[in-house]
Amino acid sequence: MKPRLVMKFGGTSVADLDRIRNVAKKVIREIENGFDVAVVVSAMSGVTNKLVGEVESFGKIYDAQEYDAAVSTGERVTAGLLALCLQEQKIKARSFSGAQVPVITDGAHGKARIEDIPETNLKACFESGSVAVIAGFQGVNKETGRETTLGRGGSDTSAVAIAAAIGAVRCDIYTDVDGVYTTDPRIVENARKIDRISYEEMLEYASLGAKVLQTRSVELAMAHSVRVRVLSSLLQEPGEGTLVCNEEEIMEKQLVTGVAYSKDEAKITLLHVADTPGVASDIFGPLADASVNVDMIVQNVSEDGASTHMTFTVPKTDAERALSVIEASKERLRYQRLLTDTKVAKVSVIGVGMRSHAGVAAKMFKALAEKGINIQVISTSEIKVSVLIAAEYTELAVRVLHEAFDLATA
Ligand code: ADP
Ligand code: ASP
Ligand code: MG
Repeated sequence: MKPRLVMKFGGTSVADLDRIRNVAKKVIREIENGFDVAVVVSAMSGVTNKLVGEVESFGKIYDAQEYDAAVSTGERVTAGLLALCLQEQKIKARSFSGAQVPVITDGAHGKARIEDIPETNLKACFESGSVAVIAGFQGVNKETGRETTLGRGGSDTSAVAIAAAIGAVRCDIYTDVDGVYTTDPRIVENARKIDRISYEEMLEYASLGAKVLQTRSVELAMAHSVRVRVLSSLLQEPGEGTLVCNEEEIMEKQLVTGVAYSKDEAKITLLHVADTPGVASDIFGPLADASVNVDMIVQNVSEDGASTHMTFTVPKTDAERALSVIEASKERLRYQRLLTDTKVAKVSVIGVGMRSHAGVAAKMFKALAEKGINIQVISTSEIKVSVLIAAEYTELAVRVLHEAFDLATA
């Protein structure tokens, strides 16, 4: 049996027919290297956004099954086109929609979770000497047989899940940057490419906003020990990219690995809520029941012993829902005012080295203070410190922190 390889190409890598021809070349090269190849493709760049916009033109609250029916089509177009392009080069290739693989998911339309990927069809495809060209971002609802999608950026997750299912030696994620950088190279010009990053750090990076890999894909890679490489599809010789692997495989460990940011947050504040036992549970219980993902939380010290302020952040997309949940319990919570701010951003420094070193938070706060950037909320974990700031200072904060922690190329 030949070793198997998964190659995933994101939106910019398949943006037009020339780029698709370029992808075919890269696939052919790996076939020549002796691999059975499964290619996972995204929709051509801009297509998913356009489809989402069209869905939303019928109203912001929509039937999630029909959202999936419409939005999942982008990747299927790319899969068909790439299969044809390979065939033109005399390479046997067959396209697969998520349902044809099948990528079996739960019924959470719009953000479905993969439950199983039976190997049979892909195995038969390889045995017939064909490349499997798979539409990413999608699966099939195990109960209804309808298409599901895996959440924005979900093709990364399709690729890693398929790599785990077929026992691939590696999952290569081709994108428009040649690896994972110390921070978004679009913001900091002299950001440095990281050669190896641990699953754990990559997970923090992704969940804190570095959208180079979808968070779920990193979780899956970690759980199934899939070796993931991030590399450029636009370079003739992509080099080694960045390998996401176990911490033990990384020789050189830094205190801080990088800086991430996210502008997808909203801040909600309840002014003067009763300072009594059970109030936090009364706020966050109903939010959890409504599947609102609460991230940072601060409760102020009560000044008068009777009331306090509670501030927390949620993804911007959940803000409306969060507000209506809180308003519905206004009587019980007895807060005076409810405030929201969507012009905020979360900026984080990440590094496994923080486990054993003090002082990262202090250095971060000092660097921000020197630029007059006010910190609204702070949260920390073993390997990261995050602050919430006004969105207009995001780029400045990222640059300042990148410099303060000496992360640039020498
Ligand atoms: P694709 O369409 O290939 O899935 P994405 O746009 O989802 O690509 O992800 C790649 C982008 O992620 C890059 O263009 C870059 O701007 C952004 N990015 C954010 N943080 C980082 C980081 N730390 N390292 C590399 N890229 C990053
Ligand atoms: N096309 C989908 C999106 O834009 C999935 C992906 O590219 O990963 O979110
Ligand atoms: Mg992506």
